[in-house]
Amino acid sequence: MKKAILVSMAVLAVIGAAVAFADTDALVGACIYKFDDTFMTGVRNAMRAEMDRQGGELEIVDSQNRQPMQNDQVDAYISKGANALIVNPVDRTAAQPLMEKAKADDLPIVFVNREPYAEVMNAYDKIWYVGAKAEESGTQSGELIADYFKTHPEADKNHDGKIQYIMLRGEQGHQDAVLRTEYSVKALKEAGFEIEELGSDTANWDKVQATDKMKGFISAVGVDKIEAVLANNDDMALGAIEALKAEGYNTGDPAKYIPVVGVDATAPALEAMKDGSMLGTVLNDADNQGIAAVKVAVLAADGKEVNNETVGYSITDGKYIWIPYRKVTTENYQELMK
Ligand code: BGC
Ligand code: CA
Repeated sequence: MKKAILVSMAVLAVIGAAVAFADTDALVGACIYKFDDTFMTGVRNAMRAEMDRQGGELEIVDSQNRQPMQNDQVDAYISKGANALIVNPVDRTAAQPLMEKAKADDLPIVFVNREPYAEVMNAYDKIWYVGAKAEESGTQSGELIADYFKTHPEADKNHDGKIQYIMLRGEQGHQDAVLRTEYSVKALKEAGFEIEELGSDTANWDKVQATDKMKGFISAVGVDKIEAVLANNDDMALGAIEALKAEGYNTGDPAKYIPVVGVDATAPALEAMKDGSMLGTVLNDADNQGIAAVKVAVLAADGKEVNNETVGYSITDGKYIWIPYRKVTTENYQELMK
Protein backbone atom coordinates (compact mmCIF):
# COMPACT_ATOMS: atom_id res chain seq x y z
CA MET A 1 0.00 0.00 0.00
CA LYS A 2 2.63 2.45 1.14
CA LYS A 3 4.71 1.54 -1.88
CA ALA A 4 1.77 2.12 -4.23
CA ILE A 5 1.21 5.59 -2.82
CA LEU A 6 4.87 6.44 -3.20
CA VAL A 7 4.85 5.21 -6.79
CA SER A 8 1.76 7.22 -7.70
CA MET A 9 3.26 10.30 -6.03
CA ALA A 10 6.37 9.84 -8.12
CA VAL A 11 4.26 9.51 -11.27
CA LEU A 12 2.35 12.67 -10.38
CA ALA A 13 5.60 14.53 -9.80
CA VAL A 14 6.81 13.53 -13.24
CA ILE A 15 3.54 14.57 -14.88
CA GLY A 16 3.60 17.81 -12.91
CA ALA A 17 7.10 18.58 -14.21
CA ALA A 18 6.06 17.85 -17.78
CA VAL A 19 3.00 20.07 -17.49
CA ALA A 20 5.00 22.86 -15.89
CA PHE A 21 7.32 22.94 -18.88
CA ALA A 22 4.64 22.60 -21.55
CA ASP A 23 4.35 26.34 -21.71
CA THR A 24 4.21 26.80 -25.45
CA ASP A 25 2.53 25.19 -28.40
CA ALA A 26 4.67 27.02 -30.92
CA LEU A 27 5.87 25.24 -34.04
CA VAL A 28 9.43 26.26 -34.82
CA GLY A 29 10.96 25.31 -38.17
CA ALA A 30 14.75 25.02 -38.25
CA CYS A 31 17.22 24.55 -41.13
CA ILE A 32 20.81 23.47 -40.49
CA TYR A 33 23.33 24.15 -43.30
CA LYS A 34 24.31 20.48 -43.23
CA PHE A 35 23.73 17.73 -40.67
CA ASP A 36 27.16 16.28 -41.33
CA ASP A 37 28.99 18.97 -39.33
CA THR A 38 30.32 18.03 -35.91
CA PHE A 39 29.81 21.37 -34.23
CA MET A 40 26.36 22.02 -35.72
CA THR A 41 25.30 18.55 -34.58
CA GLY A 42 26.02 19.74 -31.04
CA VAL A 43 23.92 22.87 -31.60
CA ARG A 44 21.14 20.77 -33.12
CA ASN A 45 21.06 18.40 -30.13
CA ALA A 46 20.93 21.34 -27.72
CA MET A 47 18.04 22.88 -29.68
CA ARG A 48 16.12 19.61 -29.51
CA ALA A 49 16.71 19.25 -25.76
CA GLU A 50 15.59 22.82 -25.08
CA MET A 51 12.39 22.41 -27.09
CA ASP A 52 11.68 19.17 -25.21
CA ARG A 53 11.87 21.19 -22.00
CA GLN A 54 9.57 23.88 -23.38
CA GLY A 55 7.00 21.48 -24.79
CA GLY A 56 6.62 23.10 -28.22
CA GLU A 57 7.26 21.49 -31.56
CA LEU A 58 10.60 21.75 -33.31
CA GLU A 59 11.20 20.49 -36.82
CA ILE A 60 14.79 20.41 -38.03
CA VAL A 61 15.81 19.77 -41.63
CA ASP A 62 19.15 19.23 -43.34
CA SER A 63 19.91 21.86 -46.01
CA GLN A 64 22.65 19.57 -47.40
CA ASN A 65 24.99 22.50 -48.00
CA ARG A 66 22.72 23.84 -50.75
CA GLN A 67 21.27 27.34 -50.47
CA PRO A 68 18.45 26.87 -53.03
CA MET A 69 17.31 23.80 -51.10
CA GLN A 70 17.31 25.80 -47.87
CA ASN A 71 15.23 28.56 -49.49
CA ASP A 72 12.63 25.96 -50.44
CA GLN A 73 12.66 24.53 -46.93
CA VAL A 74 11.90 27.98 -45.51
CA ASP A 75 9.00 28.34 -47.98
CA ALA A 76 7.68 24.96 -46.86
CA TYR A 77 7.81 25.95 -43.18
CA ILE A 78 5.95 29.16 -43.94
CA SER A 79 3.21 27.43 -45.89
CA LYS A 80 2.69 24.82 -43.17
CA GLY A 81 2.20 27.58 -40.61
CA ALA A 82 5.39 27.61 -38.56
CA ASN A 83 5.34 30.30 -35.85
CA ALA A 84 9.07 31.06 -36.00
CA LEU A 85 12.14 30.05 -37.97
CA ILE A 86 15.69 29.19 -36.94
CA VAL A 87 18.14 29.30 -39.82
CA ASN A 88 21.79 28.29 -40.00
CA PRO A 89 22.38 29.62 -43.52
CA VAL A 90 24.36 27.67 -46.07
CA ASP A 91 25.74 30.94 -47.42
CA ARG A 92 25.63 33.78 -44.95
CA THR A 93 25.90 36.30 -47.78
CA ALA A 94 22.61 34.96 -49.17
CA ALA A 95 20.52 35.57 -46.03
CA GLN A 96 18.60 38.53 -47.44
CA PRO A 97 15.90 36.57 -49.31
CA LEU A 98 15.34 34.42 -46.21
CA MET A 99 14.86 37.53 -44.09
CA GLU A 100 12.46 38.89 -46.71
CA LYS A 101 10.37 35.72 -46.75
CA ALA A 102 10.02 35.92 -42.95
CA LYS A 103 9.28 39.63 -43.04
CA ALA A 104 6.58 39.25 -45.69
CA ASP A 105 4.79 36.92 -43.28
CA ASP A 106 5.64 38.84 -40.10
CA LEU A 107 7.39 35.69 -38.89
CA PRO A 108 10.23 35.83 -36.34
CA ILE A 109 13.55 34.53 -37.72
CA VAL A 110 16.62 33.59 -35.69
CA PHE A 111 19.89 33.10 -37.55
CA VAL A 112 22.58 30.97 -35.92
CA ASN A 113 26.33 30.39 -36.37
CA ARG A 114 26.63 32.10 -39.79
CA GLU A 115 26.12 35.80 -39.38
CA PRO A 116 24.11 37.71 -41.99
CA TYR A 117 25.37 41.11 -43.07
CA ALA A 118 24.37 44.04 -40.86
CA GLU A 119 22.10 45.52 -43.55
CA VAL A 120 20.05 42.32 -43.53
CA MET A 121 19.93 42.26 -39.72
CA ASN A 122 18.82 45.90 -39.69
CA ALA A 123 16.06 45.56 -42.27
CA TYR A 124 13.55 43.76 -40.02
CA ASP A 125 12.53 44.01 -36.38
CA LYS A 126 11.75 40.32 -35.76
CA ILE A 127 15.24 39.10 -36.58
CA TRP A 128 17.94 37.85 -34.20
CA TYR A 129 21.39 36.35 -34.43
CA VAL A 130 22.85 33.82 -31.99
CA GLY A 131 26.55 33.14 -32.32
CA ALA A 132 29.96 33.83 -30.89
CA LYS A 133 32.58 36.52 -31.49
CA ALA A 134 35.09 34.81 -33.76
CA GLU A 135 37.80 37.31 -32.83
CA GLU A 136 37.76 35.92 -29.29
CA SER A 137 38.37 32.35 -30.39
CA GLY A 138 41.13 33.44 -32.77
CA THR A 139 42.90 35.31 -30.01
CA GLN A 140 42.53 32.47 -27.55
CA SER A 141 43.85 29.82 -29.94
CA GLY A 142 46.85 32.01 -30.79
CA GLU A 143 47.49 32.47 -27.08
CA LEU A 144 47.50 28.70 -26.55
CA ILE A 145 50.40 28.39 -29.02
CA ALA A 146 52.16 31.47 -27.60
CA ASP A 147 51.95 30.09 -24.06
CA TYR A 148 53.34 26.78 -25.24
CA PHE A 149 56.36 28.43 -26.86
CA LYS A 150 56.97 30.51 -23.73
CA THR A 151 57.14 27.43 -21.56
CA HIS A 152 58.83 25.20 -24.18
CA PRO A 153 61.66 27.15 -25.84
CA GLU A 154 62.77 23.89 -27.49
CA ALA A 155 59.60 24.09 -29.61
CA ASP A 156 61.56 26.55 -31.76
CA LYS A 157 63.19 23.56 -33.37
CA ASN A 158 65.49 25.43 -35.76
CA HIS A 159 66.41 28.04 -33.09
CA ASP A 160 65.73 30.96 -35.41
CA GLY A 161 63.53 32.82 -32.91
CA LYS A 162 60.47 32.44 -35.15
CA ILE A 163 57.45 30.17 -35.02
CA GLN A 164 57.07 28.31 -38.32
CA TYR A 165 53.39 27.41 -38.57
CA ILE A 166 50.69 25.90 -40.78
CA MET A 167 47.20 27.47 -40.89
CA LEU A 168 44.13 25.36 -41.73
CA ARG A 169 41.22 27.60 -42.50
CA GLY A 170 37.46 26.99 -42.45
CA GLU A 171 35.08 27.65 -45.30
CA GLN A 172 35.88 30.65 -47.46
CA GLY A 173 33.78 33.70 -46.52
CA HIS A 174 32.60 32.29 -43.16
CA GLN A 175 33.16 34.99 -40.54
CA ASP A 176 34.69 32.41 -38.19
CA ALA A 177 37.28 31.36 -40.76
CA VAL A 178 38.31 34.89 -41.66
CA LEU A 179 38.48 36.23 -38.11
CA ARG A 180 39.98 33.20 -36.38
CA THR A 181 42.80 33.18 -38.92
CA GLU A 182 43.45 36.88 -38.52
CA TYR A 183 43.22 37.03 -34.73
CA SER A 184 45.21 33.89 -34.00
CA VAL A 185 48.16 35.28 -35.94
CA LYS A 186 47.70 38.65 -34.26
CA ALA A 187 47.82 37.00 -30.81
CA LEU A 188 51.14 35.33 -31.64
CA LYS A 189 52.60 38.67 -32.68
CA GLU A 190 51.16 40.44 -29.66
CA ALA A 191 52.77 37.84 -27.41
CA GLY A 192 56.08 39.02 -28.88
CA PHE A 193 56.76 36.20 -31.35
CA GLU A 194 58.11 36.47 -34.82
CA ILE A 195 56.25 34.15 -37.11
CA GLU A 196 56.61 32.55 -40.49
CA GLU A 197 53.71 30.95 -42.33
CA LEU A 198 54.84 27.77 -44.05
CA GLY A 199 51.43 27.06 -45.52
CA SER A 200 47.79 28.11 -45.28
CA ASP A 201 44.77 26.63 -46.99
CA THR A 202 41.08 26.05 -46.52
CA ALA A 203 39.92 22.58 -45.54
CA ASN A 204 36.23 23.64 -45.27
CA TRP A 205 35.90 22.70 -41.58
CA ASP A 206 36.44 19.09 -42.63
CA LYS A 207 38.68 16.48 -41.04
CA VAL A 208 39.39 14.42 -44.16
CA GLN A 209 40.19 17.48 -46.25
CA ALA A 210 42.49 18.71 -43.47
CA THR A 211 44.42 15.43 -43.43
CA ASP A 212 44.95 15.74 -47.18
CA LYS A 213 46.05 19.37 -47.00
CA MET A 214 48.38 18.63 -44.09
CA LYS A 215 49.95 15.71 -45.95
CA GLY A 216 50.55 18.10 -48.83
CA PHE A 217 52.26 20.63 -46.55
CA ILE A 218 54.36 17.92 -44.93
CA SER A 219 55.66 16.71 -48.27
CA ALA A 220 56.24 20.27 -49.48
CA VAL A 221 58.18 21.63 -46.48
CA GLY A 222 59.18 18.55 -44.44
CA VAL A 223 57.55 17.62 -41.14
CA ASP A 224 60.66 18.62 -39.14
CA LYS A 225 60.31 22.23 -40.34
CA ILE A 226 56.80 22.63 -38.93
CA GLU A 227 56.67 24.02 -35.39
CA ALA A 228 52.94 24.60 -34.87
CA VAL A 229 49.55 24.00 -36.48
CA LEU A 230 46.63 26.39 -36.06
CA ALA A 231 43.27 25.13 -37.27
CA ASN A 232 40.06 27.17 -37.39
CA ASN A 233 38.13 24.23 -35.87
CA ASP A 234 38.71 20.93 -34.09
CA ASP A 235 37.77 18.65 -36.97
CA MET A 236 40.56 20.19 -39.05
CA ALA A 237 42.98 20.07 -36.10
CA LEU A 238 42.22 16.36 -35.74
CA GLY A 239 42.69 15.90 -39.49
CA ALA A 240 46.14 17.51 -39.23
CA ILE A 241 46.99 15.25 -36.28
CA GLU A 242 46.14 12.21 -38.42
CA ALA A 243 48.70 13.38 -40.97
CA LEU A 244 51.29 14.00 -38.24
CA LYS A 245 50.67 10.57 -36.72
CA ALA A 246 51.36 8.99 -40.11
CA GLU A 247 54.86 10.54 -39.80
CA GLY A 248 55.31 9.17 -36.28
CA TYR A 249 54.56 12.55 -34.70
CA ASN A 250 52.20 13.28 -31.77
CA THR A 251 52.05 9.67 -30.68
CA GLY A 252 53.88 10.03 -27.36
CA ASP A 253 57.55 10.55 -28.27
CA PRO A 254 58.37 14.03 -26.86
CA ALA A 255 61.07 14.51 -29.52
CA LYS A 256 58.40 14.12 -32.18
CA TYR A 257 55.68 16.52 -31.15
CA ILE A 258 54.12 19.51 -32.89
CA PRO A 259 51.59 21.60 -30.94
CA VAL A 260 48.20 21.64 -32.68
CA VAL A 261 45.25 23.81 -31.65
CA GLY A 262 41.65 23.98 -32.84
CA VAL A 263 38.36 25.60 -31.87
CA ASP A 264 35.05 24.03 -30.66
CA ALA A 265 36.01 21.60 -27.87
CA THR A 266 34.18 18.70 -29.51
CA ALA A 267 34.24 15.33 -27.74
CA PRO A 268 36.92 13.85 -30.07
CA ALA A 269 39.11 16.94 -29.55
CA LEU A 270 38.88 16.57 -25.77
CA GLU A 271 39.84 12.90 -26.20
CA ALA A 272 42.86 13.97 -28.26
CA MET A 273 43.86 16.38 -25.51
CA LYS A 274 43.56 13.55 -23.03
CA ASP A 275 45.81 11.25 -25.08
CA GLY A 276 48.28 14.09 -25.58
CA SER A 277 48.09 14.39 -29.37
CA MET A 278 46.40 17.81 -29.31
CA LEU A 279 47.66 20.82 -27.34
CA GLY A 280 44.42 22.70 -26.79
CA THR A 281 41.23 24.17 -28.11
CA VAL A 282 38.65 26.87 -27.46
CA LEU A 283 35.15 26.09 -26.26
CA ASN A 284 32.59 27.12 -28.89
CA ASP A 285 29.56 26.68 -26.68
CA ALA A 286 27.12 24.63 -28.80
CA ASP A 287 24.81 23.99 -25.84
CA ASN A 288 24.20 27.62 -25.00
CA GLN A 289 23.93 28.62 -28.68
CA GLY A 290 21.26 25.98 -29.26
CA ILE A 291 19.35 26.83 -26.08
CA ALA A 292 19.42 30.57 -26.75
CA ALA A 293 18.19 30.14 -30.34
CA VAL A 294 15.17 28.08 -29.25
CA LYS A 295 14.37 30.40 -26.35
CA VAL A 296 14.31 33.45 -28.61
CA ALA A 297 12.29 31.64 -31.29
CA VAL A 298 9.66 30.44 -28.81
CA LEU A 299 9.30 33.79 -27.05
CA ALA A 300 8.93 35.60 -30.37
CA ALA A 301 6.58 32.92 -31.74
CA ASP A 302 4.36 33.38 -28.69
CA GLY A 303 4.37 37.16 -29.17
CA LYS A 304 6.28 37.69 -25.93
CA GLU A 305 8.97 40.24 -25.38
CA VAL A 306 12.53 39.13 -26.13
CA ASN A 307 14.88 40.72 -23.63
CA ASN A 308 17.77 39.84 -21.29
CA GLU A 309 15.38 38.69 -18.55
CA THR A 310 13.00 36.62 -20.66
CA VAL A 311 15.78 34.95 -22.68
CA GLY A 312 18.33 34.63 -19.89
CA TYR A 313 21.18 35.72 -22.16
CA SER A 314 22.37 39.22 -22.72
CA ILE A 315 21.19 40.80 -25.95
CA THR A 316 23.21 43.42 -27.80
CA ASP A 317 21.53 46.04 -30.02
CA GLY A 318 18.21 44.29 -29.46
CA LYS A 319 19.10 41.40 -31.78
CA TYR A 320 22.51 39.83 -31.16
CA ILE A 321 23.23 37.15 -28.57
CA TRP A 322 26.96 36.52 -28.23
CA ILE A 323 27.85 33.34 -26.37
CA PRO A 324 31.37 33.63 -24.92
CA TYR A 325 34.27 31.37 -25.91
CA ARG A 326 36.57 29.81 -23.34
CA LYS A 327 40.17 28.65 -23.58
CA VAL A 328 40.55 24.90 -23.06
CA THR A 329 43.90 23.70 -21.73
CA THR A 330 45.27 20.57 -20.08
CA GLU A 331 44.20 22.16 -16.79
CA ASN A 332 40.47 22.41 -17.50
CA TYR A 333 39.55 20.12 -20.42
CA GLN A 334 38.27 17.42 -18.10
CA GLU A 335 35.48 19.68 -16.85
CA LEU A 336 34.04 19.63 -20.38
CA MET A 337 34.11 15.87 -20.91
CA LYS A 338 30.54 14.57 -20.79
C1 BGC B 1 32.58 25.86 -36.02
C2 BGC B 1 32.90 24.84 -37.05
C3 BGC B 1 31.69 24.56 -37.91
C4 BGC B 1 31.14 25.86 -38.49
C5 BGC B 1 29.85 25.62 -39.24
C6 BGC B 1 32.03 27.11 -36.68
O1 BGC B 1 31.66 28.05 -35.70
O2 BGC B 1 33.73 26.20 -35.28
O3 BGC B 1 33.33 23.64 -36.46
O4 BGC B 1 32.03 23.68 -38.95
O5 BGC B 1 30.90 26.80 -37.44
O6 BGC B 1 29.32 26.81 -39.73
CA1 CA C 1 61.59 28.38 -35.54
